[in-house]
Amino acid sequence: VAKRLEKFKTTIFTQMSMLAIKHGAINLGQGFPNFDGPEFVKEAAIEAIKAGKNQYARGYGVPDLNSAVAARFKKDTGLVVDSEKEVTITSGCTEAIAATMLGLINPDDEVIVFAPFYDSYEATLSMVGAKIKSITLRPPDFSVPIDELKAAFSKNTRAVLMNTPHNPTGKMFTREELEVISSLAIENDALVFSDEVYDKLAFEADHISIASLPNMYERTVTLNSLGKTFSLTGWKIGWAIAPPHLTWGVRQAHSYLTFATSTPMQSAAAAALQAPESYYEELRRDYKAKKEILVEGLKSVGFVVYPSSGTYFVVVDHTPFGLENDVAFCEYLIKEVGVVAIPTSVFYLNPEDGKNLVRFTFCKDEETLRTAVERMKQKL
Ligand code: GLN
Repeated sequence: VAKRLEKFKTTIFTQMSMLAIKHGAINLGQGFPNFDGPEFVKEAAIEAIKAGKNQYARGYGVPDLNSAVAARFKKDTGLVVDSEKEVTITSGCTEAIAATMLGLINPDDEVIVFAPFYDSYEATLSMVGAKIKSITLRPPDFSVPIDELKAAFSKNTRAVLMNTPHNPTGKMFTREELEVISSLAIENDALVFSDEVYDKLAFEADHISIASLPNMYERTVTLNSLGKTFSLTGWKIGWAIAPPHLTWGVRQAHSYLTFATSTPMQSAAAAALQAPESYYEELRRDYKAKKEILVEGLKSVGFVVYPSSGTYFVVVDHTPFGLENDVAFCEYLIKEVGVVAIPTSVFYLNPEDGKNLVRFTFCKDEETLRTAVERMKQKL
């Protein structure tokens, strides 16, 4: 393997999902729903295939989907963007993140990230050859340590890569935190890349896109996808929204990474984004009920549960059970209890920082969540 990927192992999600199958454990690890997306979206995909929408799509997106993404962004943020010049459709948000990094970051540029961070960020930045500056968000509330953030900026800082609602903690960046990030980005002439794939799973506060703050749109790439909102994580439809001068870089990278994204799935995604607001309300309501079941359950088992305001994840402190670290705890949980969680140490530059924390997902039907809690109650 090339040097730039030498330090990375098989992704933790793949590892844990394979173990789940091997041990017949309930998978509250990798974040994928065990229920399906809406019928009307699946029908739209079938119709698109039958209607012969099966050749290469336009590189930067099927026009209907570019328009639907722009319309949704306007509803969510009030920002009016040109769907032809400022929206790029990608194969999932992970590709949008990679295209953004490859298209806008030079080797040796510094990029600030907030740990714990989604695993692809570090690997992608390593492929780019960028330098990572990591700011650690700490329990119980995972708030941004402002002085540390200020100190992390230098003349080489090219961008801040952030994620709200935040995987794995469920933290949502507050308006005050976003204002601090904005003013530092403006002051240091840095870009902001904002991964907002869980924006529709915001339970305790309103989601705020940093692009909507004053003078921020021109320096922000907003990244999102269909998978979480429509319970279709296998479709891999994502997008990047950015002003034309940044979109150019994203599109150049996207053109030579994947060239274009699946044509019929893009058509169906455009249909999905026509969903009435009630769809989103119901999604939020369902997930809130699931969250309640898991959070109350984990508390009753004896975990220290940190509040999750958004995403379909919750982070807990496993140390009351006396295992050595997060990896040892997750191994024990799979083999002895029959439940899978994600150890968080892989989401930090220094794995020690995550050794007390593990992540559970509640994107499963209520019965599955209850059974998992029951197993932990009996065997932990
Ligand atoms: N985003 C999903 C999670 O955090 C995992 C996606 C993947 O397996 N790469 O669980």
